[in-house]
Amino acid sequence: MSSRRLLLAANWKMNPPPASALQAAMGDHSANPYHPHSDIDVVVFPTFLDLHKTVAAGLVSGGQYGRPENAGAYSGDISMAMLKTAGCRYVLCGHSERRENHNESDADVAAQAVAGLEQKIHPIICIGETLEERDKGHAESVVKKQLNALPLESDITIAYEPVWAIGTGKTASAAQAQGMHAFIRSLLPKDRQEKTRILYGGSVKADNAEELLSQPDIDGALIGGASLRPEEFGEIVKAGEKITQK
Ligand code: PEP
Repeated sequence: MSSRRLLLAANWKMNPPPASALQAAMGDHSANPYHPHSDIDVVVFPTFLDLHKTVAAGLVSGGQYGRPENAGAYSGDISMAMLKTAGCRYVLCGHSERRENHNESDADVAAQAVAGLEQKIHPIICIGETLEERDKGHAESVVKKQLNALPLESDITIAYEPVWAIGTGKTASAAQAQGMHAFIRSLLPKDRQEKTRILYGGSVKADNAEELLSQPDIDGALIGGASLRPEEFGEIVKAGEKITQK
């Protein structure tokens, strides 16, 4: 079994936090799936407006985006330095929705990751191919190009999120995901191969989490839709704990 600690990241996108996530965990933190757990890492990614609430509730929190510059004339943006001040410990970089809706390039994503590291915020960097790219047989070359732009020698987390599986209900099979994760790991610098966590994202649900999380090169999941449903997220957290305790 790998020494990498399992990480489950709840990406709430442009949605309010599930009400129960903000409720205080009574004694046993594991009773509330969104709260910190002893055996696995659980991180929530609320909107910027809700960040102070999740931090105040004791949840390990992250920003869904951070701009590299510390401050300045960048209307609508928020900087990594501001995320740090707000209590963020993680930041998502290059989610496919941002790559598509905000034209973020590989270089932009890399600059975000470096700025996050400078602020001591842990970047979770999303990469993954579209359906068209996969159908043309380009999945590996696309992922390799996205990966090569990144500061791979640093302490970062990669999230492999095939774009065709995000929010669509279509999940990569466990074998497909494991194959791509092993490929990604093989491209990391030798001294990072055992250390860097690689998460899978794309329609992770209660009924597929255990199989995906059991794969040797899958070190956790980035979860969108299912993370907004507390009972289902709780099932995914339980699957992660079960695998860790094996
Ligand atoms: C995501 O937002 O990164 C994601 C994987 O979403 P979903 O789980 O809904 O596919």
